[in-house]
Amino acid sequence: MGKTEIGIIGGSGFHELLKNPRSIAVRTAYGRPSSKIAEGGLGGRRVAFVQRHGENHTIPPHRVPYRANIEALSEMGTSRVLASSACGSLSARFKPGEFVFFDQFVNMTSGRADTFFDADTVMHVSAAEPYCKELRSIAIRTARAMKLKFHDRGTVVVINGPRFSSKAESRFFSTQGFELINMTQYPEAMLARERRLCYLGIGLITDYDAGLVGQKGVKPVAYAEVGRMFAQNIGKTKELIRRMLEQMPQKRNCSCSRSLEGALATQK
Ligand SMILES: [Zn+2]
Repeated sequence: MGKTEIGIIGGSGFHELLKNPRSIAVRTAYGRPSSKIAEGGLGGRRVAFVQRHGENHTIPPHRVPYRANIEALSEMGTSRVLASSACGSLSARFKPGEFVFFDQFVNMTSGRADTFFDADTVMHVSAAEPYCKELRSIAIRTARAMKLKFHDRGTVVVINGPRFSSKAESRFFSTQGFELINMTQYPEAMLARERRLCYLGIGLITDYDAGLVGQKGVKPVAYAEVGRMFAQNIGKTKELIRRMLEQMPQKRNCSCSRSLEGALATQK
């Protein structure tokens, strides 16, 4: 097994999957990542794993050092990132317990450091297709083979958190056509793109947010339910990632490595 190829961002429970992991304390130009990086073997590949919310889940979504996490994975040599997270459903078509591979985000966060290009170099990076198409197609094939319930695409609106939505906000998001809601996909997906990494957002649907438009009797989300649902499905998530790693071609066949072409405005 050669150099670190693939980064995984997720919650606890992944590092025990790695073969002969070593724990590395990293410091980047953007500070320390959320956790030490666990590096080891998985699915025949060399992977680096970071716990988005810290080793003891002490970092809330709006304080996650997104730039340091992506920078650390990038500096370790990874070219692809698989990122697992919980999300709420804003549409009756998307049900708790199902997986979704996001294809679009809507950013409703504020105050987050969301670019690597905020000094000297002015870059306008395209976000038209923020997620890697090749990784999504590998995920779809793998989920199908595993007979998982999943959605091959989904638009996720990203809120700042840590609070959940009001009913009015949730209704507003639904009527806009947003299908899922989450607190971490932005700026994580975009920062990966700024570093020319392939990025796949694997969402596990845990709840119906503050309710569903036109449907009574759906209880607003409570964190306890999110945690329970996520824990229940962690085994499937890990298996999905492991099998994806086994099937991933060595060479990238997508346009992610060219994400900065034509984006440069000025450079000091
Ligand atoms: Zn890609």
